[in-house]
Amino acid sequence: MALRVLVVDDLAFMRDAISDILVRDGFEVAGEAENGRAALDRYREIRPDVVLMDITMPVMDGISALREIRRFDPSAVVVMCSALGQQHYIIRAIHLGAKDFVVKPFRPERIVSAVRKATKTYA
Ligand SMILES: [Mg+2]
Repeated sequence: MALRVLVVDDLAFMRDAISDILVRDGFEVAGEAENGRAALDRYREIRPDVVLMDITMPVMDGISALREIRRFDPSAVVVMCSALGQQHYIIRAIHLGAKDFVVKPFRPERIVSAVRKATKTYA
């Protein structure tokens, strides 16, 4: 069964790009969200296997959403995906339970390997 991914980014073209990469590699994009608040709502609804989450977003940023999602579900698997220059958030994200941290711009393989590694699925 395909792993179900929730893709979170405030930019539609970035959600599309990430979703394309995931679908091409056999993952299911179970949902998308454009900010942290929407991500939390979507997470509760669809219970994805993994969340790929941007950091800089309106309404609620990705670090706050990571904290809220992990509070709601301590076993939530979240991979942060943020712009170059946001690496100072890495330590905080890892402390809050993020499994990995992908820096944009990324190569498609980086997204795929991060999701696989985070979910410990190497198939
Ligand atoms: Mg953003």
